[in-house]
Amino acid sequence: RLSLVHEKDNPLFQKQSNQNNRISVFVRLRPMMKREKEANSRSCVRIVNRRDVYLTEFSSDNHDYLRLKRLKGRHFTFDASFPDSASQLDVYSTTTADLVEAVLQGRNGSVFCYGATGAGKTYTMLGTVENPGVMVLAIKDLFTKIRQRSLDGNHVVHLSYLEVYNETVRDLLSPGRPLVLREDKQGIIAAGLSQYRAYSTDEVMALLLQGNKNRTTEPTRANETSSRSHAILQVMIEYRTRDASMNVINRIGKLSLIDLAGSERALATDQRTLRSVEGANINRSLLALSSCINALVEGKKHIPYRNSKLTQLLKDSLGGACNTVMIANISPSNLTFGETQNTLHWADRAKEIRNKAYETNEELVQETESDADQAKLLLEVQKENR
Ligand code: ADP
Ligand code: MG
Repeated sequence: RLSLVHEKDNPLFQKQSNQNNRISVFVRLRPMMKREKEANSRSCVRIVNRRDVYLTEFSSDNHDYLRLKRLKGRHFTFDASFPDSASQLDVYSTTTADLVEAVLQGRNGSVFCYGATGAGKTYTMLGTVENPGVMVLAIKDLFTKIRQRSLDGNHVVHLSYLEVYNETVRDLLSPGRPLVLREDKQGIIAAGLSQYRAYSTDEVMALLLQGNKNRTTEPTRANETSSRSHAILQVMIEYRTRDASMNVINRIGKLSLIDLAGSERALATDQRTLRSVEGANINRSLLALSSCINALVEGKKHIPYRNSKLTQLLKDSLGGACNTVMIANISPSNLTFGETQNTLHWADRAKEIRNKAYETNEELVQETESDADQAKLLLEVQKENR
């Protein structure tokens, strides 16, 4: 007899999720780039003991970097902080390996990279053929674990890769018309999203690189991936097992790996910044994500998931019955001090989010995007941040 078991009915899941209900937050510092060195930039970030991050602000009179003056420092601490020498494997093992294990047991998990454009999000998530990132290493690990435990015949791994750009959801593996979000018993799904059955890591890397080429490019800069596009890789592991009464059951674990848009245009952390981005191109999804995080941290009953496509898609991955990992990417350069400070503040706040199982039975309504809509959202965010 075949039946679906939802995670909330799985005793194993409940036990483990109670043990570790806070979301894990990590920081990764990338190396100084050549162009930053050429611009005489200095490092304003120091990572100590793989945990503590010290941020130092410099002031320069008339851009005279020889007379750099130490102004003020700030100290942050995270579950782990990676210096620029950290390897892709190190980042994967520390941040995501445990989640992969959980997903193999039929639970849900998600990892997302947050940070300004150029801070290293895509490098961390996708990486390169020589240095594959978290997405590829997670799938590799999954295949290894399945093989080691001789679970081969039973486990099936499917992938979907999608993009949210300008409140439009697109399939990155099978580009075409925008996808419509629908709510069903299992949560919110993108109707018609293609699923690829994965067999090997090499093939997955090729698939993802191709998918990344399909990410929306900035109209003014052809070939350059838009900093306003969010990419979401969903990995579904389906397997058969037996319940206590020896009935054959199907269990599904879902891992979501998210390369978020650049955070520099949606710094919903203070009034001044908000006003200054009003005229610019606001990333509604990223703003809404910040509002959801604020609401979760403040323990509000109503979490405004419905304000954007991204938050609808992440509804089961934020604060809900899911294990969540956040990796905040930062650059060392004092030229991007403000962005780094904002990212660290955001990450610091995200540490307070607790994953808890609560009902999310809101009905999904299709919203139309309009300027009036965006203005309303801004007002809401401002109110929430007050
Ligand atoms: P983002 O996706 O946040 O805009 P990228 O991942 O594209 O930023 O990184 C910007 C540049 O820095 C890329 O050329 C990338 O290869 C490089 N880079 C980022 N992180 C690292 C790292 N940890 N080690 C080496 N190079 C990195
Ligand atoms: Mg990127």
